[in-house]
Amino acid sequence: MSGSVIIAGLGPGSETLITPEVSAAIEQATDIVGYIPYVKRIAPRDGLTLHASDNRVEVDRAKHALEMAEAGRKVVVVSSGDPGVFAMASAVFEAVEVDADRFASLKIEVLPGITAMLAAAAAIGAPLGHDFAAINLSDNLKPWELIEKRLSLAAQAGFAMAFYNPRSKSRPHQFARALEILRAECGPERLIIFARAVSTEEQAIRVTTLGEAEPEMADMRTMVLVGNEQTRKVGSYVYTPRFAE
Ligand code: SAH
Repeated sequence: MSGSVIIAGLGPGSETLITPEVSAAIEQATDIVGYIPYVKRIAPRDGLTLHASDNRVEVDRAKHALEMAEAGRKVVVVSSGDPGVFAMASAVFEAVEVDADRFASLKIEVLPGITAMLAAAAAIGAPLGHDFAAINLSDNLKPWELIEKRLSLAAQAGFAMAFYNPRSKSRPHQFARALEILRAECGPERLIIFARAVSTEEQAIRVTTLGEAEPEMADMRTMVLVGNEQTRKVGSYVYTPRFAE
């Protein structure tokens, strides 16, 4: 049997937001590899081995997946949302690159999913209807100074912004600093959306302004969206017009 690695996105949380091709790949898998909470979303069955691991070992996890595929297994690496957005697809290619000749003939496929940013935007209306920038606020894999620079420049360029990994217990002060930068660049009236646990039973969406925003409004299950200067409310929705001057 020839093995394969499929890197699949499970969407933001709801079963209904998993694509049919991802469900089919999971049905045909012999092994599921991923971060513990994502692997928990897969129903156990005979013939399927679940390999759940901690979040900080992405490249080891990717290598493990490649080795199992080499041995003939049908491996599905799962990420939440889309696997190409701050997730496992790049980690798998990083592991391939380390040993490119060895893994050259292996079948690797990436199956997209609905990323948290898009699910969050849809839950409140259309805040990303014009140009926008997506930024990961975690400094695990890049220096904080670079994050500050990108925040400032994206705000200056007039982009709406979507922030992944806004705030964790290990670095609570950084999100306060991010809000400070945004306030300075965009002013206190700019709309900001905190979209927590989108598409799950715990979903909670809060719309406020940069002037009123508090760092505690975000945690690691929150997507933070900041509008551009045109972003506005219409009834209980928030949207950004498609045009700019
Ligand atoms: N690959 C994922 C992102 C991984 S980074 C994707 O495409 O969605 C993890 C971050 O995504 C979290 O810290 C949070 O900011 C965001 N996130 C993931 N699921 C979410 C959800 N259901 N609701 C709100 N934010 C979510």
